[in-house]
Amino acid sequence: AMMKDLQKKYEELVDLDKAHFLHPTSSIKQHQENGPAFIFTEGEGIYLKDIQGNKLIDSLSSLWNVNIGHGRKELGEVAAEQMGKLGFASTFATWSHEPVIRLAQKVAEMTPGDLNTTFFTSGGSEANDTAFKTVRHYWKLKGQPEKKKIVSRKKSYHGVAMGSTSATGLKPFHDFTTSIAPDFHHVDSSADALRAFIDEEGAETIAAFITEPVQGSGGVNLPPDGYFQEVQQICKENNIIFIMDEVITGFGRTGKTFGSDHFNIVPDIMCIAKGITSGYAPLGGMVLTERLYKELIDLSGDGMFMHGYTYSGHPVSCAVALKNIEIIEREGLVEHVREMGEELLRGFEMLKQEHDSVKDYRGLGLLGAVGLDAGTEEPIAPKVVSECFKRGMIGRAVVYDGQDTLAFAPPFVITKEQVQEMIDIVHESLVAVEKDL
Ligand code: PLP
Repeated sequence: AMMKDLQKKYEELVDLDKAHFLHPTSSIKQHQENGPAFIFTEGEGIYLKDIQGNKLIDSLSSLWNVNIGHGRKELGEVAAEQMGKLGFASTFATWSHEPVIRLAQKVAEMTPGDLNTTFFTSGGSEANDTAFKTVRHYWKLKGQPEKKKIVSRKKSYHGVAMGSTSATGLKPFHDFTTSIAPDFHHVDSSADALRAFIDEEGAETIAAFITEPVQGSGGVNLPPDGYFQEVQQICKENNIIFIMDEVITGFGRTGKTFGSDHFNIVPDIMCIAKGITSGYAPLGGMVLTERLYKELIDLSGDGMFMHGYTYSGHPVSCAVALKNIEIIEREGLVEHVREMGEELLRGFEMLKQEHDSVKDYRGLGLLGAVGLDAGTEEPIAPKVVSECFKRGMIGRAVVYDGQDTLAFAPPFVITKEQVQEMIDIVHESLVAVEKDL
């Protein structure tokens, strides 16, 4: 009877999901044909459970964000406590509260160099849009309103608000709608490409350059050697503001606190989200260097900073972020990410040794990818992902731009044995797919 009830509930939820829920970044047709792929019920550590009783490794930490792993009671407790005390308060017009003040201080302490002042948002897209508006505001105050172009890299992903969609260098996100915002441009990932663009357009028309330390959704692409040092120098020479989008890489994902730390880069602006709360509450932010912020103070005079979201500095999200960061520090998780990152690369090497369809691999900390090439017209990564599911793992395929890639970003708490388990599942899945080629 229990089983029957559960089956009934499952069918009911599928029907309701199809009727009333438009899923983000999804195929409407597939949804209508097959219903939701998963109905999750709970999670613990690197695992998610769904309503049908499947226990699955969450190999991408859901959306590269559940960094401390699922099922952390401590975060629930701190959220409940904060909601009971002060569930919401505005931070507009200089109003404030302790969780946002403490978090802003903590972010200043953790971020490199003099990145010391944060504007909070609900997520990464808003963080990037905030950065784009802020740099244009800055140049306007400096008497150079024509310095407004935003330059980003091809294959970049910066989110889906109007500005962040426009900065994103993946065509399907542009093709979804009729036109992107004006004054957004995409360049190849070489210093020469940026130089050529500046020569062509004129530095006096360019407000900022934005880049991820490691491109995430575009296929986990590591930067060419020396790239960031060179582009930062180019930006300095041309008075172009350098923005690092650390939405995925921030708070330990790459084995250092920030991706920028690998390259000794202190950007003028850093955008953060995801890992700041490990996804337990929505939160993002734009962090400004002291130099830039001091200039803004001087230039603003009596003028207003006319930009703010209702949920800028949400007290519950800030309290959750503080506890999440405390856990990362207490458990030494960044160091652990470095060690497990090496384990992951060893696993990738094994896959490459054993499979002709594995072309290459890359990784930094627990952010990695395996490049596939089976000589087929269609990419095989989606097939591998569905084989992985049968074997107990949720995988992620990246097929933009003719790529055939498997991406990995497991929770920081993953153990050596669990990395091996993940690699074994991918191995068996590749065997199954290769057999059918
Ligand atoms: N920037 C990067 C590098 C991201 O990976 C993402 C999300 O995946 C975003 C921005 C957008 O963040 P959000 O989805 O929280 O708006």
